[in-house]
Amino acid sequence: MNETSTGRAVLITGGSRGIGAACARRFAAAGDRVAINYHHAQAAAEALVEEIRAAGGTAIAVQADVGDSEQVARMVDNVLDKFCQLDILVCNAGIARQQLFTDISDGDWRTLFRTNVDGTFYCCRAVLPHFIHRKAGKIVTMSSMWGLTGGSCEVAYSATKAAVIGLTKALSKEVGPSGITVNCVAPGVIDTEMNANLTPEDLEALRQETPLESIGRPEDVAESVFFLTSEGARFITGQILSPNGGILI
Ligand code: NAP
Repeated sequence: MNETSTGRAVLITGGSRGIGAACARRFAAAGDRVAINYHHAQAAAEALVEEIRAAGGTAIAVQADVGDSEQVARMVDNVLDKFCQLDILVCNAGIARQQLFTDISDGDWRTLFRTNVDGTFYCCRAVLPHFIHRKAGKIVTMSSMWGLTGGSCEVAYSATKAAVIGLTKALSKEVGPSGITVNCVAPGVIDTEMNANLTPEDLEALRQETPLESIGRPEDVAESVFFLTSEGARFITGQILSPNGGILI
């Protein structure tokens, strides 16, 4: 077992693929110990753990539905048990859905809020006693540019991501005196499975609309997340960093 390395201990929710997996690779490459949370994709999470270990890093996979407070509490206990401490929480797990506002059912609305907002709340609440006790800790939440501007046919998703921004700002004020930073990353269009519904023509149109003339990569977002946990971000809290290629300025 290589779970005793000296790097920071990081819990990344939704780490089985996309942006979360890129975050796991980024932290592991820096020598941090990563706990990779997944919901359904056990094989993908375990393959990523193997990849990181093969490169000499430290990683474990932890299953939990972030929308279930008991599962989240168990997951955090499990990570604390394995790593003995936790330094960083990345609340990345999220789901999206495109539909007309008038087609959104009560269940659709609740499903998005359950994962994107309740999940962020449960994870932050579960790690904070440990962070407050140590008077240290860094939380990075995951919003979206739609949480800043609102997206047509993504009203529920936009509302969840705006809620994440509100949570981030308020929580940063509450726990700042305990030495804890809380920041948010609000990416633009990133090439992951979440955007698998976009056609090549849609992606090309978005690329042309973007001043930096490219679609974002999960690694671009991971760099922002990593920065917000670095010593260089020591004096930054309650902020929203939007890696978006300039599509939203
Ligand atoms: P993705 O490829 O669809 O991956 C989503 C991840 O979230 C998966 O690892 C999935 O785990 C996990 N997840 C979903 N529901 C969960 C639950 N209830 N409990 C635990 N894990 C859960 O998405 P992505 O593009 O990487 O997006 C990651 C985050 O960035 C999301 O919060 C998303 O809203 C945000 N974001 C994405 C974009 C974009 O353009 N892609 C833009 C802005 C913001 P399993 O595979 O195990 O189910």
